[in-house]
Amino acid sequence: MSVAVIIPAGGSGTRFGGELPKQFLSLRSTPILIRTVSLFASHPAVQAIVVAVNAEMRTMAEELLEDFFPRRCIVCDGGSERQYSIENALQHPALAPAEVVLVHDAVRPFASSALVDALISEARVHGAAVPGLVPADTMKQVSDEGFVLRTIPRNDLRIIQTPQAFTIQVLRDAYAKARRNNLLGTDDASIVEAAGHAVKVIPGEEDNFKITTKSDWERAQRVIDARMKD
Ligand code: C5P
Repeated sequence: MSVAVIIPAGGSGTRFGGELPKQFLSLRSTPILIRTVSLFASHPAVQAIVVAVNAEMRTMAEELLEDFFPRRCIVCDGGSERQYSIENALQHPALAPAEVVLVHDAVRPFASSALVDALISEARVHGAAVPGLVPADTMKQVSDEGFVLRTIPRNDLRIIQTPQAFTIQVLRDAYAKARRNNLLGTDDASIVEAAGHAVKVIPGEEDNFKITTKSDWERAQRVIDARMKD
């Protein structure tokens, strides 16, 4: 069984200051992107890892990945939206032999290998599988005027994470349909759903958060410090 991984790392967010997008910044001395790629680099079923980066970062990303994982990663051009970064990566010939494709944000460095394995197995059975957490807070739908329309039972909801796993046929079909219909989704599962495929949701992980804000950055440092102690 052959698995390929696509890592969209084409975002340009530099809100932590500095010149580099956050996926290239070092978190406790190791760049976030390197921490994320290492979730997959030694996985026995992963045969291709394609990292999408924007053009200005390309040389730096290639050198960085080559330093940490010699001859293991392929770098391709990112797009103006996350979805286009993935669409570009999906064209790469290195993906052709894959049965399952995992898509994982460059800025989520803490997914466990048990989660990766569970997603691969579920995708082989169902065609598509994603991790999700039940929200801790009460969830309400609100009108444009700011009034509550209804309270949605939180057990019916999931906060969806990556990695998201798909058979390559399902993912390619969904991306082709999204292009034809001009659909822009916030994750890959939404494109796959819109294409009419079922998506299995399995339990996500608290530590598998996306590093977006300064407080996420500090939380990430705490996760690393706690893991070093264990
Ligand atoms: O911006 P957002 O939080 O959705 O980014 C999630 C992931 O998608 C990040 O790893 C980011 O680098 C990537 N991305 C991308 N191409 C873009 C925008 C975001 O690969 N144009």
